[in-house]
Amino acid sequence: MNASHHPSDDLLWSYAAGSLDEPSSILIATHLSLCPACRAVVAKAEGMGGELFENSGTADIDAGSLDAVLARLDETEEAPRIALETVGEEAESVSVPRPLKDYLPGSIPSLSWRWLGPGVHYTAIKTEARGPKVGLLRIAPGTKVPMHGHSGNEMTMVLAGGYTDATGNYQRGDVEAADDGLVHQPVADAGEECLCLVVTEGELQPTGMIAKVLQPFFRF
Ligand SMILES: [Zn+2]
Repeated sequence: MNASHHPSDDLLWSYAAGSLDEPSSILIATHLSLCPACRAVVAKAEGMGGELFENSGTADIDAGSLDAVLARLDETEEAPRIALETVGEEAESVSVPRPLKDYLPGSIPSLSWRWLGPGVHYTAIKTEARGPKVGLLRIAPGTKVPMHGHSGNEMTMVLAGGYTDATGNYQRGDVEAADDGLVHQPVADAGEECLCLVVTEGELQPTGMIAKVLQPFFRF
């Protein structure tokens, strides 16, 4: 099944240039393992970067794109790259794409899950770099995640099950990017636990009564 919600081209281009932070790169690489369309965008962006190195000044692209590529080429030092491989099967119900699996110390059920609220558990994924936090969120079928806003950007990618919020329905492979303007209340689809990879900048900001009670638990 192909994903229907994709990362922005801007993110894909940053990934291609190697200028994305490590937590975001994990999410993008995981999405790419499942999404041929975005792999094509990244391949094209990487091709353009290569072309610029080979034929500086003669690359047949418009000035805006050229500026964008050059700006990103400047940022490539020390940027983490995550090997992109095809989906690896795991001996459990959830198939974990390779770029993510490499970061996990064990199988999904064996990770140390922290209770965040009724039906919601979280485990942090360790990365080398400072910056956004990355982790996995498990949401029991039909569970409403407390309404929350964001003090920074948040990216979510579904690995299993699905969820729905005001912006649409998200299934395996789908990516939702929320900025600090979005207040949302994701609801896990019925029937299957929803497993998501989440990259968060800043703190989530719970709103509403129940969310306020849970606020201490929202500090990933
Ligand atoms: Zn995609």
